[in-house]
Amino acid sequence: MNAPARHLTIIGAGLAGALLGILLRRRGWDVDLYEKRGDPRVQGYGGGRSINLALAERGRHALRAADADDAVMRHAIMMRGRMVHVGDTEPVLQRYGRDDDEVIWSVHRGDLNIVLLDLAEAAGARLHFDAGLDSVNFDSRRAVFRDPRDRSTREVPFQALVGADGAGSALRAAMHRVHDLGQRSDFLDHGYKELEIPPRGDGGFRIEPNALHIWPRGHYMCIALPNDEKTFTVTLFLPHQAGADGGPAFDQLGDVDAARAFFERDFPSALALIPDFDRDWAGNPVGQLATLYLERWHLDGRAVLLGDAAHAMVPFHGQGMNCAFEDCVALAGHLDANADLATAFAAFEAERKPDAAAIQRMALDNYLEMRDRVDDADYLLQRELELALQDRHPGRFVPHYAMVTFMRIPYSLAMRRTDVQRGILERATAGHASLAALDWNAIDAEVLAQLTPLEDVP
Ligand code: FAD
Repeated sequence: MNAPARHLTIIGAGLAGALLGILLRRRGWDVDLYEKRGDPRVQGYGGGRSINLALAERGRHALRAADADDAVMRHAIMMRGRMVHVGDTEPVLQRYGRDDDEVIWSVHRGDLNIVLLDLAEAAGARLHFDAGLDSVNFDSRRAVFRDPRDRSTREVPFQALVGADGAGSALRAAMHRVHDLGQRSDFLDHGYKELEIPPRGDGGFRIEPNALHIWPRGHYMCIALPNDEKTFTVTLFLPHQAGADGGPAFDQLGDVDAARAFFERDFPSALALIPDFDRDWAGNPVGQLATLYLERWHLDGRAVLLGDAAHAMVPFHGQGMNCAFEDCVALAGHLDANADLATAFAAFEAERKPDAAAIQRMALDNYLEMRDRVDDADYLLQRELELALQDRHPGRFVPHYAMVTFMRIPYSLAMRRTDVQRGILERATAGHASLAALDWNAIDAEVLAQLTPLEDVP
């Protein structure tokens, strides 16, 4: 039996897979989505990894393109900025943007996935749960799926496969067997563990809900994002192994007593908010973080990868999902523009690979900023100058965070301009403790010489 024309088989009905299913159905494609896990709408969401995610403009734009934004935003909580917790002082809010039009949103991964699955199904995509991709014969165009519950298999013909099956992609492994994809994974020597701040006794939030909380501690940090059931998901990022400086690491915190003592010393204000610390610490695994680099994302017109399957990144810019959603819109656009699948997949890869590489690098850079710099006097002065230059040169000097988070210019362009701007900020503030004595004429001249006006993507 031959697969019908304009048919795509998507592997993975997680965040990107489900969104792509909606976008393609709206364009008249016949779509089958295969998902290894069971249906989260029936048996609850067992996504495992981070419970909530920061959604930014790039992701929201993609959701709007699928008419999914309203349904998702019903579950979202506004985060105006970073609430930085240092020592015994009251936490301070560092706004992300100028006002409430420049914010990010915390969304529960399970709610988001369920909204997108419902919309994909309503749009006519066929959803197959408990169907993990097992093997692929690219010559005969047949894929084998395995039901993890009873290990049974079924073989399915396909026209082309789209890999939205995440960082451990089975499709990527199958493609690599027939063509070297030039794969390299850089594991971060830091991992993460999740804990939970429950609601207050009266049902409200225990701390300020409209912020992303950070407890920066130099080589490590905790963050907390709000959930709409009035909880916070806390994530501790910490080295796996103690270094020469003897700093704390997961390998020293194997038992709950050691972990509690560590929190009592370094995160007492966070610990006070986590009554079930012992249960969470013992029950939740330490997650690995890695950046995945691939030289090729597609196999002629037979298979293509997107999202984490193509370019997993560390989570410190909160852009992995946002980037994956942008991928979906881009792939749908190239499929519209090119009748030939191989041409569409190649054009998609050519457009998105430099941008994925750029956000991968910026995500790594941002870890240093979050854990070590947000309470640093140099950093705060540069941030003050960044905002002043934004006012003096609107549309020309656009802060790094705004370019990545509130705009949709290519990530690679945001990275190039960030590098230029960082140089201007560092040179201008070197040796200064306040903005009062800066040489504004020289700084303005440098901005005008080095930065052209910046227009967002319409
Ligand atoms: P996934 O979400 O991983 O979905 C893959 C799907 O494929 C899953 O449903 C899986 O079950 C399924 N699957 C796997 N194998 C198979 C198979 N063999 N057959 C069939 N199906 C299969 N991003 C943000 O934008 N903002 C954030 O704040 C943010 N925070 C993060 C925090 C942490 C700690 C981590 C680890 C990541 C974070 N990310 C964040 C990144 C984000 O989670 C990912 O980039 C995003 O989930 C990628 O979506 P995806 O659909 O490509 O992959």
